[in-house]
Amino acid sequence: MRIILFGPPGVGKGTQAKLLSEKYKVKHISTGDILRAEIGDQTELGKKAKIILEAGQLVPDDIMIGIIKRVLSSNCCENGFILDGFPRTTAQAEALEKLFKELKLNLDAVIYLDVNEDEITKRLSNRYSCLNCGKIYNSEYDSIPDNVCPECGGTVYQRDDDKPHTVLSRLKVYRKSTEPVRLYYEKTGKLHVVDGIGTVEEVNNKIFSILER
Ligand code: AMP
Repeated sequence: MRIILFGPPGVGKGTQAKLLSEKYKVKHISTGDILRAEIGDQTELGKKAKIILEAGQLVPDDIMIGIIKRVLSSNCCENGFILDGFPRTTAQAEALEKLFKELKLNLDAVIYLDVNEDEITKRLSNRYSCLNCGKIYNSEYDSIPDNVCPECGGTVYQRDDDKPHTVLSRLKVYRKSTEPVRLYYEKTGKLHVVDGIGTVEEVNNKIFSILER
């Protein structure tokens, strides 16, 4: 199972990718999580990425393509993977296609989660996640007493780039650089559009029914 989960920020890619990776027992590869780990470890890449993420901009293609090459070539992904947050530009999509050819891999599906911008802005401002297990919460519906994760006891926090002014930049960047990737995959016939409005379970069922076909 090799899938790309695609769509604007805050559309639910991370939540759905986690559920899919549990169901199909394949690796969840989130490029945002990889970058946040580098930032946490204060590596050279992390120091550069911190400034870019806080501005709501994209990390340069050559860096991101290098990261994906390393991850997909490692033995963590032999059973398959869910890509979440990559590709985000047409250049990344082209490099990924080339890499699939080199590694003799087949892309099964691209799931595009579709949610309108008003809902996205609301979701991002209510989004919290666990530093330890990565579970994502919505402060409107979920109760998180003392910011302690009900699943694992880790600390629940709000990402800096989910604050309102960064969200505006991220949406602008999405429209300019990432939306064209949708067209790229439309042409391959592998793109499935899923309405991302609804409960986590409802959206999950829609994705499963596409993948089971
Ligand atoms: P995410 O967790 O997927 O929302 O990603 C958070 C941030 O990491 C994005 O706003 C970008 O700054 C950066 N990022 C993640 N994936 C990529 C990518 N494929 N290309 C460029 N920047 C990325």
